[in-house]
Amino acid sequence: MKRFATVCLSIFLLSMSLTASAQTTVIKAGHLVDVEAGMATSNQMILVVDGVITEIGKNLKIPAEAEVIDLSDSYVMPGLIDSHTHVTMTEMPGADINDFGSYYYTGLIETTAFRAIQGVTQARSLLETGFTYIRDVGNNALYADIEVRRAIDGGWIPGPNMIVSGRLISPFGGQFQMQPEKPGLGNPEYFYADNPTELRKAIRENIHYGATVIKIIVDNQPYIYSVEDIAAAVDEAGRVGLKVAAHAYSPEAIHNAVLAGVASIEHGNNPTDETLALMKEKGTYLVGTDFPASRSSQAAFERILERNRRAYAAGTPMAFGSDVVYSRPDWTRGELTLEFLESFTEAGIPNDYILRMFTMNAADLLGVDTGQIKVGLAADMIAFEDNPLQDVTALRAVHFVMKDGTVYKQDGQFKWETPRNMNNPRRKTKRSVLKPRTGN
Ligand SMILES: [Zn+2]
Repeated sequence: MKRFATVCLSIFLLSMSLTASAQTTVIKAGHLVDVEAGMATSNQMILVVDGVITEIGKNLKIPAEAEVIDLSDSYVMPGLIDSHTHVTMTEMPGADINDFGSYYYTGLIETTAFRAIQGVTQARSLLETGFTYIRDVGNNALYADIEVRRAIDGGWIPGPNMIVSGRLISPFGGQFQMQPEKPGLGNPEYFYADNPTELRKAIRENIHYGATVIKIIVDNQPYIYSVEDIAAAVDEAGRVGLKVAAHAYSPEAIHNAVLAGVASIEHGNNPTDETLALMKEKGTYLVGTDFPASRSSQAAFERILERNRRAYAAGTPMAFGSDVVYSRPDWTRGELTLEFLESFTEAGIPNDYILRMFTMNAADLLGVDTGQIKVGLAADMIAFEDNPLQDVTALRAVHFVMKDGTVYKQDGQFKWETPRNMNNPRRKTKRSVLKPRTGN
């Protein structure tokens, strides 16, 4: 009883201190971009209390304790979301990209520790460029992604919020050709699972270690996952409210994954028109991960544009995903990620839809409360000078970034101070994103 009273008292004091230190900010937005409506309204004020948007309007009363941020000469829109990142994979140079060589070697040679350190820099770069949420979908050695997320959530390093997959689940061999004396070289990068029972076991293990999305590789081997295999994965993940992202290139693999009820098709290079229509019907997202022209042959880039035109015309829901694992001299990971805009502009997709792919569509796919500037959603916002509804490349000049109400970039300068109260964050799956399915 005494112990109970002590607990109650500390909860009371904790809530008091939270109330006392409520962080209140007012943003004066010269132009507020409503991505859902595809329009901008002028001279809006946005009230943010403890990381959440609580009021929006032309003439808000500014609370006495509020910090006022003047963005009256800027366009303000929701923070960007990349639905397909690999922050803990940076390919080693020297091998031919077309045979996946460099990324195979990277998995073989680099340690989890070094890859987690690389993830720290890549995550910071994405935040600095305007990405406030990412979904990291595997290639993390042995759960480096989960430790990067833990460090960000615990305040040790700056970075976007992260949905993470843990290890990639694939049929025997992963994405590569093994040789029979060393069949396990794909491990731990890939978790081999060849039937519904093995898939369920792999998913439970990933969830145990902290995965908040499940990523399966449907078709990098001659044996592809069947509808039955994938449906078992969707069922097992769904038991704790997680979604399944399916890496699929071929028409058959894409079709199997859509029929089985995955949340998204990753890559999805060759969908039939019939499957694109089915994706519209079932609300399955296409996360195209289209290489920009600088990374493709002209013919390959044309095929990407053609697929994007078909998907847009079919009404298939689309969310932005980059899949950047490469580097280029003088470019940050964040800058490389925004190079992909041309895959959509050159396909003739309207600017307002492109903005939705980078914000509310991706938030819907991730299942997170952000992606729009609306009362009740997380205060994830970016700002830049030009109108993105007229020219989406305006996104490449983000000078202001707020994530969960905290400012990380202002007047073009990244803001980060070493925290003064470092504690060791718990290693635990964030329950807040796990909403168990009810009914079965
Ligand atoms: Zn990928």
